[in-house]
Amino acid sequence: MTGYARSRVLHKLADLMEERLEELAAIETLDNGKPLSMSKGMDLPGSVTILRSLAGWGDKISGDTCKVNGPYQAYTLYEPIGVAAAIIPWNFPIASLIIKAAPALVAGCTMVLKPAEQTPLTALFIAALAKEAGIPPGVLNILPGFGPTTGAAIASHMDVDKISFTGSTEVGRLIMEASAKSNLKPVTLELGGKSPLIICEDADVDIAVEIASLGLFFNMGQCCVASSRIFVQEGMYNEFLRKASEKARNRVVGDPFQAGVQQGPQVDETQFKKILGYIESGKTEGAKLLTGGKRIGEAGYFIEPTVFGDVKDDMKIAKEEIFGPVMSVLRFKSLDEVVKRANDTMYGLAAGIVTNDLNVANRLSRSIRAGTIWINCYHVSDPALPFGGYKMSGIGREQSLQAVLNYMQLKTVVTPVHDSPW
Ligand code: ADP
Repeated sequence: MTGYARSRVLHKLADLMEERLEELAAIETLDNGKPLSMSKGMDLPGSVTILRSLAGWGDKISGDTCKVNGPYQAYTLYEPIGVAAAIIPWNFPIASLIIKAAPALVAGCTMVLKPAEQTPLTALFIAALAKEAGIPPGVLNILPGFGPTTGAAIASHMDVDKISFTGSTEVGRLIMEASAKSNLKPVTLELGGKSPLIICEDADVDIAVEIASLGLFFNMGQCCVASSRIFVQEGMYNEFLRKASEKARNRVVGDPFQAGVQQGPQVDETQFKKILGYIESGKTEGAKLLTGGKRIGEAGYFIEPTVFGDVKDDMKIAKEEIFGPVMSVLRFKSLDEVVKRANDTMYGLAAGIVTNDLNVANRLSRSIRAGTIWINCYHVSDPALPFGGYKMSGIGREQSLQAVLNYMQLKTVVTPVHDSPW
């Protein structure tokens, strides 16, 4: 297919996703537990936007003519890398699928994609829509299965030319190892995080609380970029804790299909138990539990929105990824100090800064080692914004033109030029 034709087919898939939005959103909520208002209002429309935006690159990626130091004509050609594979997680099932499949297909690759074992349903639905949209057989292959079997087989396959993975740092390492031990397929890794949100005392406390709550509690806390270390400057610390706890207490937790519900259950029993374990460790290590801390009811994996104050840098809840509705608040004095502490992590996915001082915002955004810095906002994601991690949060960038180039090879073509000025 030409790039333009691929673009057309992907736009057709986007049309079908819009037509079936209600069903897709309901399936996503059934599978994952996120509030229907989120699936319908954010995950689905957001995925369609990403798909349409990336589809537009189909006929817009060209190579260069190169100025060679001799009588040669030379140019570069972008070619699809070949068979691409993707292994995705359960926290944003449909969005993760589109973030990987759209750039691969628009680049001209085929794709084998393994959804997470917890949430395979919307991926299978998309496979049916892909067929209807005119994506030829064998081009987008949805292969549900478990990680250590299906996932590992994909990662070590000799005929897979590229792999893109989103999930834990631990499994990311296994993916890279499998690539190294098989055919050295290039890897794109989007891994874990322990993102700092730095709140300076000059800021408005209500805005700070708003940003912190969104940063941490969004998607039941199941976000790789969650603001899971909230550093608050001493002048605002007590008031922030009081207001943040009050806001957490007022969150509406319950049946994700019910209108007005802000927080559904955690995705499964494993995650649920892991999060309750972290809450216990916060208590035993001496953090101050301000609100929450327990499961809600007897059925389902519902956890109270939880806030810990007086968290210290060496506590487990300040070091490890919790992936749940547990806010950890740490106190700081000076900017130099907070930069050091914020960077003292193996992760580097995202960071937030809340301040009205432009110089502080600029200084901090250059000092924090993370792939995305949100100033006076959080979780802003857009197909135009490259996304990925520093350090052990990943390799490569997704979204934007960068994403499409992940699935392309760059070929250099050289030929002598005779009897002609060069
Ligand atoms: P999480 O902790 O968020 O569930 P994981 O990294 O365990 O994240 O899982 C993300 C994805 O990686 C899932 O699709 C899962 O099936 C897959 N996976 C898990 N283990 C492996 C493995 N050994 N090899 C390849 N894929 C794996």
